[in-house]
Amino acid sequence: MVAVCRRMNETGINQGTSGNLSIRCEDGILITPSSLPYERMVPADLVVLRPDGAVDGARAPSSEWRFHRDILAARPDIAVVLHCHSLNATALAVHGHGIPAFHYMIALAGGPDIRCSRYETFGTQELSDAALEALEGRVACLLGHHGQISLGTTLDGALRLAVEVETLAAIYVAARVLGEPPVLPEDEIERVRMKIRAMGYGPRG
Ligand code: 13P
Ligand code: ZN
Repeated sequence: MVAVCRRMNETGINQGTSGNLSIRCEDGILITPSSLPYERMVPADLVVLRPDGAVDGARAPSSEWRFHRDILAARPDIAVVLHCHSLNATALAVHGHGIPAFHYMIALAGGPDIRCSRYETFGTQELSDAALEALEGRVACLLGHHGQISLGTTLDGALRLAVEVETLAAIYVAARVLGEPPVLPEDEIERVRMKIRAMGYGPRG
């Protein structure tokens, strides 16, 4: 987890003390601590959230522990929740703008778009509720006026998806300079999604 956090910074999708990461584990959830720069973080700084609500660790868990807990509880299909404030995804999210099916790689997110949630204050149950809604049938979403969430079955997969979401956001922002790009039909995105699954292609492969 510490290595993946550091790679979040190296890939440029995160900076400072923004972002957080969690994984389902035997004792509940293992999650990054709040407000600790990744370059200073060591494994002993990680925090365990037990199913009964008990917190095990020397540091406070990420302020976003509610959406990590709720997403992992609601989504048995994934095991990792990654949140970051990547530049282009956040640039769209401050406009409340999701990403449409302007490029076939949108299928990596699980469907024909990446939704943007409504704005809610960081660290609240309201933000968790909004994130869960935006993630319905998807493995990624934008958070209004905030950032992005990417899910994975593995730490590496979640990181790779977060980079793909940021790349799609960057291409979309660039393409919009020439006007709103046309979107691919939903049945084509579904065909791509099935092909990705059959090939084990992309971050979830
Ligand atoms: P934490 O440092 O508490 O994880 O918060 C970072 C963040 O991105 C809040 O949304
Ligand atoms: Zn955040």
